[in-house]
Amino acid sequence: MGEQTGPVKRRLGVMGGTFDPIHHGHLVAASEVASQFHLDEVIFVPTGQPWQKSHKTVSPAEDRYLMTVIATASNPQFSVSRIDIDRGGKTYTIDTLRELHQQHRDADLFFITGADALGQILTWHDAPELFSLAHFIGVTRPGHILADPGLPEGAVSLVEVPALAISSTDCRARVAQGDPVWYLVPDGVVRYIDKRDLYREDPAGHDGR
Ligand code: ATP
Ligand code: MG
Repeated sequence: MGEQTGPVKRRLGVMGGTFDPIHHGHLVAASEVASQFHLDEVIFVPTGQPWQKSHKTVSPAEDRYLMTVIATASNPQFSVSRIDIDRGGKTYTIDTLRELHQQHRDADLFFITGADALGQILTWHDAPELFSLAHFIGVTRPGHILADPGLPEGAVSLVEVPALAISSTDCRARVAQGDPVWYLVPDGVVRYIDKRDLYREDPAGHDGR
């Protein structure tokens, strides 16, 4: 008694991604970080409709959002936020974190990102404010090594997730070639990809949207 401690702050993970599609690498990474950092919840935040890669368009935001909901629905610690989708346009992490900070004033935020993306953190426009809004956790996957980070001390942690050499790029390529993605993505996501005809080479209205 007599201690000045306020209510214990909630510990919220934030997992941003294109999730085109969400796969078991994302889910294992979130689960592992939640365990190691004693997080109360991980919020998956699908990006807004972003950059156009030269020869391909990112799938519609609603499809990416729904696949993320399907993939996370069975885990009571996981939830999905629409903030980046509803804001529209290219997603900047600073906007995501500012908004989540407003919505969860009682919480400490832990931004989970691939070590590949973390490597570019210092080039991010608002790095000092970013580090004041969240602790950053870089997850490494096979084939991605964090080059000299040179990041502010204490602002970033690295976590090795169980090796899952899965990427969305590979999942899309497999679907395009007619190869299975069973067990690379959750069952419901396999079904959803099929139902919505995502990632097919023959573009029945899929290109040029
Ligand atoms: P793409 O191949 O289209 O780049 P991706 O598989 O990297 O897709 P994103 O939606 O870009 O998926 O990933 C969101 C975040 O999850 C990124 O920070 C990414 O580095 C990380 N991530 C992706 N796949 C894995 C994996 N297998 N293990 C750990 N982290 C991953
Ligand atoms: Mg990626």
